[in-house]
Amino acid sequence: MSVSDDDVARAAGLIAHARGVTVLTGAGVSTDSGIPDFRGPQGVWTKDPAAERLSSIQAYVDDPEVRRESWRQRSAHPVWSARPGPAHEALVTLERSGKLVALLTQNIDELHQAAGSSPERVVELHGTMHHVVCLSCGMRAPMSDALRRVEAGEDDPPCADCGGILKSATISFGQALDTRVLLKAHAAAQNCDVLVAAGTSLGVHPAAGFVEVAADAGADVVIVNAEPTPYDDIAAVVLRGGTGDLLPRIVGGTGGL
Ligand code: NAD
Repeated sequence: MSVSDDDVARAAGLIAHARGVTVLTGAGVSTDSGIPDFRGPQGVWTKDPAAERLSSIQAYVDDPEVRRESWRQRSAHPVWSARPGPAHEALVTLERSGKLVALLTQNIDELHQAAGSSPERVVELHGTMHHVVCLSCGMRAPMSDALRRVEAGEDDPPCADCGGILKSATISFGQALDTRVLLKAHAAAQNCDVLVAAGTSLGVHPAAGFVEVAADAGADVVIVNAEPTPYDDIAAVVLRGGTGDLLPRIVGGTGGL
């Protein structure tokens, strides 16, 4: 579906007149980089509903086979060769305008930082795949070290410090989000004039709730997504299309901000 220039101009106009813009991104800003989303038409869980079990902390702790399968999938994950795309780059341009309050992302791929977004502005709500953490002692280490051990034959490498279970430093279902991260995201949603939600189904809480936090604080909401979301009704502008097409058009349409 093509989105009219008028709709893009309305979103660009809101941003151009805003003092502060907060952005919330999801898997749909990284699909163009070859990383599939979970719930879209080509999503990992849409194609294989059983795969959702791999994202449950209880299954990961209880079932060694879930951990072995998780390590197999991490080793072969497209994230290791993925490069940022036009959506990530457009958000770097937005930051350079000086208006970006924060870039809240549900993504765990670090492609925003790879594109050039400042790590201080990126709030990783669900953690990162680029590190591992020990579920017993909290030891944190680069994912690359753990993957080298998997390649060398360990199918479920334990923590080198205490022997505990290692997991990617991401938030699985059943795990609480980091309180400091949540507070930072909440403040960024409250202190913006425009919140742009891009490439997210807005079906995962508490992340999706930041749209409501921003709207309740008086911000205009712009939603850019290929499919409808539960928050389309409260948005000032809904653009139904590709993030790689629309985010550069919106940022480009702000007249250099
Ligand atoms: P989601 O899978 O629930 O939704 C993604 C949404 O993006 C869908 O509505 C889909 O239609 C849309 N979409 C896909 N490609 C698009 C495109 N090119 N342009 C516009 N829209 C597009 O993902 P979510 O809302 O981000 O939340 C799911 C969870 O999955 C998060 O917790 C996140 O941690 C995790 N996840 C992360 C990655 C990643 O880091 N790249 C990938 C998959 C899942």
